[in-house]
Amino acid sequence: MIGVDADLEDRAIAAYLGLALGDALGATVEFLTPREIAHQFSREGGVHRHIIGGGWLRLGAGEVTDDTTMALALGEAILAEGGQVRPPAVARAFDAWMRAKPVDIGNTVRRGILHFRRTGRPWVRPSADAGNGAAMRCLPVALTGARWSERRLARAALAQAWVTHRHPLADAATVCLVLMAKDALAGLGQEALATRAEALVRRHPEFRWEGARLDNPSGYIVDTVKAVFAGVLAPGDFTERLVAIVNRGGDADTTGAIAGMLLGALAGTRGLPEPCLDRLRAEIRVRCVAQARALAAADNAPRGETAGVPGSVGRGLLAQEAGSLVPG
Ligand SMILES: [Mg+2]
Repeated sequence: MIGVDADLEDRAIAAYLGLALGDALGATVEFLTPREIAHQFSREGGVHRHIIGGGWLRLGAGEVTDDTTMALALGEAILAEGGQVRPPAVARAFDAWMRAKPVDIGNTVRRGILHFRRTGRPWVRPSADAGNGAAMRCLPVALTGARWSERRLARAALAQAWVTHRHPLADAATVCLVLMAKDALAGLGQEALATRAEALVRRHPEFRWEGARLDNPSGYIVDTVKAVFAGVLAPGDFTERLVAIVNRGGDADTTGAIAGMLLGALAGTRGLPEPCLDRLRAEIRVRCVAQARALAAADNAPRGETAGVPGSVGRGLLAQEAGSLVPG
C-alpha cells in the first residue's frame, strides 16, 4: 500500500480543476475565430476571460462539455478496476456516458461507442481519423499511472484511446500528453514538458509549433496539440496562458481542457484563480476533486492493465505500439 503523497494529490486536484476550467472557459468561444472573439468581447478589450457559459452549446455559466465528463467517466472506470486501465471497463463507462445524453459528443467518439455496442469489442480499427477525442480525456491515466514505467503508461494511454480513436498521430500525441501530465504531476517544470514536446516533434514534424499557424485550431490532433504546446510552453501564470489559448478560438474547449490539465498540474491548487473556480458548477468541482483524490491515493501498482482485451488487438500489439512510442 502506498501512502498518500500530499504534493501529488494537490497537483492532481489542480490538474482536474484546470481541465474543467479550460473546458468551461473555452466552450464559450468554440468554433469562433480570433477575430470573431475580439469583436464579441470588444467591451472587455477584445479578450474572453470569464466563465460565462453560452457558446454554440448554450451552456450555463460554469458548465463543462465532453472533455471533462469523458475524463471523469474514464477515471470512474479506472477506479472501479482498482486503478487499472482495462478497455472493456472503459468502453462500458463511455457507453453509459453516451446513454446519459452528454451536451456534446464528437463523431469519432460516437462511432467508437456504437462499434462497441454492436461488436462488444473495446477497440476500433486503425482509421484515417486523427481527432483529438482520446487526448482530451487522458488525465486519469496519467494520474493512476503516476508511479508506473513510461512504457506501461503508454500502453494504458493507448488502451483507453483505442476504444474510439486509432491513428498514428493521435496515438503519439495522446501518449506524449500523458507523459507530460505525469511529469507535471511529479512536480517537474515547464522545461520537462518542453522536452517531451520536442521529442514528439522529432518523431512527427507535423507537431512543430514554433512558427506554425496556431489560430483557429481544429479538432485535428495536430492543430490542437500545436496550439496547446505553444500556449503551455509560453511564459505567464495559469490564467494568462489559459486565456491566451482559448482566445485562439477553434476547438477552444478542447485546447482549453488539455492545456488546463497541464497548467493546473504545473501550478498546483495555489496557482489556480479562485474567482474562476467559484464559477465552476459545484457538482463538477466536487467530482473533479473527489476523483483526483481517489486516483492519487489508489494502490494502483500495475497488474496487467490490458488484461481482457480480446483477439487480435491483445497485449502484444498494444505493447508493440506503445514500445515504439517510448524509448527504453
Ligand atoms: Mg468539448
